Amino acid sequence: MDLRNGFDIRRHIRTIPDYPKPGIKFRDITTLLANKHAFRAAVDELMWPFLSAGVDYVVGIEARGFILGGAIAHELGLGFLPIRKKGKLPRKVIGKDYQLEYGVDTIEIHADAISKGDKILLIDDLIATGGTAEAAIDLIQESGGDVVAAAFIVSLPDLGGAQKLIDKNIKVHRLVDYDGE
Ligand code: AMP
Repeated sequence: MDLRNGFDIRRHIRTIPDYPKPGIKFRDITTLLANKHAFRAAVDELMWPFLSAGVDYVVGIEARGFILGGAIAHELGLGFLPIRKKGKLPRKVIGKDYQLEYGVDTIEIHADAISKGDKILLIDDLIATGGTAEAAIDLIQESGGDVVAAAFIVSLPDLGGAQKLIDKNIKVHRLVDYDGE
């Protein structure tokens, strides 16, 4: 997880205690995105293992996964496919419900976005419990896609999400781990 050039990405991530609710430490990457060196370093570090991986599409999860995934797709010379919250995509979709701490949410992808055998790199800013990423992986696999890896700036290993994906034989690439929730 050490970055190749020793760049300290962690220094550019801001922690907001008790947001959005008491007890949660929100890892805010807007400060990283705003810094030209940190943004470039994060995008480079997320994508470099996949330069020669034969990826066909980058898939990003709304909304921070769009910012990172768009930049990564551009750098890799690939197209970008969005996974969006329910009701945002205009054509036929397939959807997946996933568990939030309280209640259920749904994400969707266009039914015709991925063809059988397409190799996909999945991007989001952070993996916590892994519920969002798991639902996204289900959508990609149901569409016939093959998930090459899932890549995140931040992992919260105490919440078990990265391990959950690894147990499903998904490669997980993450840049920094934070202890706790
Ligand atoms: P999960 O489904 O539990 O892995 O949660 C991952 C999604 O929720 C990602 O899209 C994150 O942007 C967001 N998220 C969850 N926990 C945090 C946190 N502590 N700080 C910032 N974003 C979070």
